[in-house]
Amino acid sequence: MFSSLQYLGGMYRIGKCHPTATTCSANIRDISRIPIRLKILTGSYILQIKRAVFNNTNPDQTCMLCGKSDETLSHFLLVCTELENIRMTLTREIIEVCSVLFAKYELNTKFDLLTILINPYYYCSQWNSKNLISDIDQLLEPLCRCLCYKLHAKRYQLLDIQTRTIRKLAK
Ligand SMILES: [Zn+2]
Repeated sequence: MFSSLQYLGGMYRIGKCHPTATTCSANIRDISRIPIRLKILTGSYILQIKRAVFNNTNPDQTCMLCGKSDETLSHFLLVCTELENIRMTLTREIIEVCSVLFAKYELNTKFDLLTILINPYYYCSQWNSKNLISDIDQLLEPLCRCLCYKLHAKRYQLLDIQTRTIRKLAK
């Protein structure tokens, strides 16, 4: 198994559509958010740390938003201070919903926030699947999808401003 697919969890079966790729609502805005979600899930979302591996001319892995540490997936989703405003409320909601669901379905395990954000279905097993999956569909996945999309949009907006400033200065 590729290490970048570590977050797919037990729910994933080859040939079956992953639940993060489907959406209950036929809302266009929701549908447009799926690709980002899948890129993050499958590890193909390009962050500085990845760019550095692929591009030898620019081996700098530092986050270009805050410049404080390497831009890993956990830095981007959980830590980067430049994205804190976007993250705060939604992350709190996600933790609350998670706690309720884990109690309701008696999942005797601590949840890892990063794993939940990447794949909220990660802790589903064959025993509790149906109702839990439907609750996640309704309550948790929309929040995680929204958060990933908003973080992505903000990151791109900030990087775009930077690029344009650099180009202007170079002229
Ligand atoms: Zn950062």
